[in-house]
Amino acid sequence: MAKNVEELFTLQPVVMKQLQTIFDKDRLAHAYIFDGEKGTGKVDIMHFFVKLMLCEHPHENVPCETCRNCRRVESGNHPNIHEIYPEGQFIKIDQIRDLISEMKMMGIEQGRKIYVLHHADRLNIASANMILKFLEEPDGEVTAILLTEQMQSILPTIRSRCQHIKFQKMPRQLLLKHLQENDVPHSMASTVSMMTNELETAIFLAKDEQFAQARKTVLKLVEAIRQNVHEAMIVVHEEWLPLFKEKSEMEQALNLLLFAYRDIVSIKANPEAACTYPDMLQTFKEAALHSTFERLSSQMESILQARASLQRNMNRTLMMEQLMLNLQEGYTFV
Ligand SMILES: [Zn+2]
Repeated sequence: MAKNVEELFTLQPVVMKQLQTIFDKDRLAHAYIFDGEKGTGKVDIMHFFVKLMLCEHPHENVPCETCRNCRRVESGNHPNIHEIYPEGQFIKIDQIRDLISEMKMMGIEQGRKIYVLHHADRLNIASANMILKFLEEPDGEVTAILLTEQMQSILPTIRSRCQHIKFQKMPRQLLLKHLQENDVPHSMASTVSMMTNELETAIFLAKDEQFAQARKTVLKLVEAIRQNVHEAMIVVHEEWLPLFKEKSEMEQALNLLLFAYRDIVSIKANPEAACTYPDMLQTFKEAALHSTFERLSSQMESILQARASLQRNMNRTLMMEQLMLNLQEGYTFV
C-alpha cells in the first residue's frame, strides 16, 4: 500500500509534482477535484497534501511528519479538517449545512481550514447547490478537496470552480511488481492485472479459489475450441455452464476468454508481447501461426456479441452454443 512519499511518487509522479509546485509557489486554490479510479492513491495523496498545508516545518515541500499538526492529521484529530462521506446513496443537504456552519465556527484553531468530500459525485442536487454557493464565497483560508471516481457525474458548475487534479491509473508494470511482492505467481499476476488496476482487488482475485477455477476452465475451453466444435460443446456443457451460474460470473468468464484471443493477436503481431496468460505462450504461439488477423478479429467480435447477448438476458446455453459455432466457423479452411 502506498504510504511514504517515495511510494506516492512512484504511484502518481505528475500529481505529486503538481501539488508540491502549488504549495511551493503559494498558489493554493479554494477547491480541488482529485479525479481518478479506485486504487490510484487519491486518499493517501489527499492526506499528504493536507499535512503539507498544515505542517509547521515543511521541508522541500514534504511535511515533517513529527510536528503537532502532522501528528493530528495522521491520527484524524485535527480540528481544522472536516471530512464528509455519503450517507447512504447521497451526500445530503444536512451534512453540507453542518459542514458549512462548522467551517464558519472553527475560529479557535489558527491556520487553514480544509474540508474533504469523499465520493463528491454523490452530492444530490440540493447539496450540490449549497456547496456551490460556499465554493463561490469562501471565508478566509479555506481549501476544499473533492474526491471522485466519476468525474463526469459532477455538475459542470462545480467542476468549473475547482482545480482539476487528474490521477493516472496504476501502470501495469508497477501493479505486477506489487503482486510479485505479495507472492502472486507471475502467470496469475499477469491475468489479474488485466482485470483491474487496483492492487487490493488484484490480490483478492489472485488468491480467490473460484477465480483460479474460472481461469482454468476458460483456458480449457480455448484449447477445446482449437480441436473441434464437439470438444468445445462438451466443455461448455460439463464445465462452463455449471461453473458460471451468475450473470456476473459469466461476464467475467467471457472477458477472460476475450483476453485469450487478444493474447493470440498480440503474439501474432509481436512474439515478445506482454500477455494475460504467459503460461499459455507455447499454445498461443501455435494458434497465432495457424490463424489470420481477420479470423482472430472476427472471433473477438463473436465474444463481444455474446457479452452483449448476456446483457440482454439471452438464454445462456443458446448463447454459448452459438458462440462455439461462431468461434469454429471457417476454422478448418485456415
Ligand atoms: Zn509537520
